[in-house]
Amino acid sequence: MRYVSTRGSAPVLDFEGATLAGLAADGGLYVPEAWPSLTREEIAALAGLDYVETAVRVMAPFVAGSLSEDELRELCTAAYGRFAHRAVTPLVQLDHDQWLLELFHGPTLAFKDVALQLVGLLFERFLKGATEPLTVIGATSGDTGSAAIDALAGRIGVDIFMLHPHGRVSDVQRRQMTTVLAPNVHNIAIEGDFDTAQALVKAMFRDSAFSTRFKLSAVNSINWARLMAQVVYYFYAAVRLGAPERPIAFSVPTGNFGDVFAGYVAAKMGLPIERLVVATNVNDILHRALSSGDYSSGTVTPTATPSMDIQVSSNFERLLHDLADRDGGAISAQMAGFESTRAMRLTNAQSQGAASLFRSIAIDESGMAAAMAGAHEGAGEVLDPHTAIGYAAAVALKGEAPMVTLATAHPAKFVDAVERAVGVRPALPPRVGDLFEREERYDVLPATFAAVTAYIAERAKPRAR
Ligand SMILES: *Cc1c(COP(=O)(O)O)cnc(C)c1O
Repeated sequence: MRYVSTRGSAPVLDFEGATLAGLAADGGLYVPEAWPSLTREEIAALAGLDYVETAVRVMAPFVAGSLSEDELRELCTAAYGRFAHRAVTPLVQLDHDQWLLELFHGPTLAFKDVALQLVGLLFERFLKGATEPLTVIGATSGDTGSAAIDALAGRIGVDIFMLHPHGRVSDVQRRQMTTVLAPNVHNIAIEGDFDTAQALVKAMFRDSAFSTRFKLSAVNSINWARLMAQVVYYFYAAVRLGAPERPIAFSVPTGNFGDVFAGYVAAKMGLPIERLVVATNVNDILHRALSSGDYSSGTVTPTATPSMDIQVSSNFERLLHDLADRDGGAISAQMAGFESTRAMRLTNAQSQGAASLFRSIAIDESGMAAAMAGAHEGAGEVLDPHTAIGYAAAVALKGEAPMVTLATAHPAKFVDAVERAVGVRPALPPRVGDLFEREERYDVLPATFAAVTAYIAERAKPRAR
């Protein structure tokens, strides 16, 4: 499979190249040159398969040319063997036709483990024998950071620098990052919000001298391999609920538009998805973009769902590109407009194309708390705040098809918000139980390009030395 940039002018790469590059050199994001598809029979045949085997069938076309099916199976077996639930991503019933897909049984209790456990192994595989170390940099609103650090800690040939907004991630989220003391792990608390941290990361990639010298790579959701790994659970869940005979709907609590874009890819591959509900919190840029074509970024309002507190959704560019007939020049111009004015309009083709699959809604704190209470009273399930946003949206925007809400984090990760809504303090699972006793290590830096690059330059191993 060949990968092209959404902005049309970066080199075309294979799967290995796209995985290691993260962001494309022209500022765009890598996407497969064409969507592979599974026939109805191939989808039906997934129904009896376990998670690993489903993953191999769904991902094989994307890795073709870089990994054999057996190599892919070996990596998936290792990655998903670390999950605490044998189904990896089990379904739980909430109501007659409402379901939860629990994506939080990995090592750091959030759905990002599903992708990053695999991506960590992919990096190791592709870097085996490389003489120049890779420097992974990322910005996190909480869960990406811990999942990436868990996946890369101690791996040879990689240094990881993770920026998080100082004081704006939960104690559990921060500790999951800062208590990993492996020498290749570097935590930076930025004096600013998530978007500021993300902008710093993007600026480092755009600085080609810096980026080449330290062989930068990204594991944010802009990394194609992550999105690819997330496509799998849409198939896994849908076939268990009757696909391809009947269409299934999904509700996805959304920030960077990564998880829900994976659902779009599943639909493109032939999975009958009735609708994809894009659930945002009050930071509703995606809801505004999808409902009125207005993609304009305001200031971030901190909420009980920090992983969705964003005003720029990086992966949205992948959708815009696909809905603009994959015209890299047009996307490049549209994104340049956005980057200079922080606002842009979707074209009619983009708005109409999105409307055929996506619905969207913004859920405020009281809607979130009501959904948590509803799931607790109606099904005895304790939802984390992000999942509750998804569930509130699922109830509001359900059509004919069974509705699956993606449960993106374990409730114990956001214990105070959960206690406020339902009066229960969920316990951390035993596998992370001593988190609050472990030593922490991180540095606080001002939100400037100079401060962060100097910090990295001091600690990373430069190329060819
Ligand atoms: C990252 C995250 C989200 C948002 O996912 P995107 O792929 O950025 O849309 C939602 N919920 C939780 C718990 C997360 O960690």
